Amino acid sequence: MSRKVIIAGNWKMNKNAAEGKALVDELKAACGNCCCCEADVVVCPPFTTIGAVVEAVKGTAIKVGAQNIHWADNGAFTGEISGDMLKSAGVEYVIIGHSERRQYFGETDATVNARLKAALKYDLIPIVCVGELLDERESGKTEEVLTRQIRGGFEGISADEMAKTVVAYEPVWAIGTGKTATPDIAQAAHAHIRKEIAGMFGEEVAEKVRIQYGGSMKAANARELVAQKDIDGGLIGGAALKAGDFLSLIKEALGK
Ligand code: PEP
Repeated sequence: MSRKVIIAGNWKMNKNAAEGKALVDELKAACGNCCCCEADVVVCPPFTTIGAVVEAVKGTAIKVGAQNIHWADNGAFTGEISGDMLKSAGVEYVIIGHSERRQYFGETDATVNARLKAALKYDLIPIVCVGELLDERESGKTEEVLTRQIRGGFEGISADEMAKTVVAYEPVWAIGTGKTATPDIAQAAHAHIRKEIAGMFGEEVAEKVRIQYGGSMKAANARELVAQKDIDGGLIGGAALKAGDFLSLIKEALGK
């Protein structure tokens, strides 16, 4: 089965509204719709930049994602944002359970699961991040950690919901460090993730789910990574902050 490549840029806490618009304008000028129709291309700005970016991508195939979502519809949750707010702002994707959220903001598999259900309720496409820490890899626990994150994170959703959910495998030791997992290491982890999804939802669903690699992906390594059987794209941090870097990476990922 062929799965459409999906490349998402996680801008993290970078780019105010004017800077975000300028970055999208550069992406549009350089690429138009050429690579953005062969791959699903998503940009995920900070909340306050979303409005400007939604405006800027109008008329292109570029989609907008958010970096978090709260599980409640509304209420006394200072600093949080709801699915309804994201949907009405023009957002189509949402990153859930990024390792920085797990590390600095107490995100757990249970909160990931609650946020995932909220995203699905509001018809947003979730990008759920999983991945092991360096010491977990070094002590041979990678598969155990991925299994726990998948079983906990995806508990209680339907097969149809799983099929449209995107998973991002992001080994924490590779994020922002310049250390990329080798294609073989990444492929092995992706295969394990797909096997776990098959165990929960069946082979047919597992074959549909797109699994992105994330962790120091750039133009120089994107082609080889995305050429792996179970790697269907990338979740990109640093290399998504400059239009030229992001476009080169997309082209490499598409094998151009
Ligand atoms: C990320 O934070 O999701 C990420 C993959 O970052 P970087 O590409 O900078 O390693």
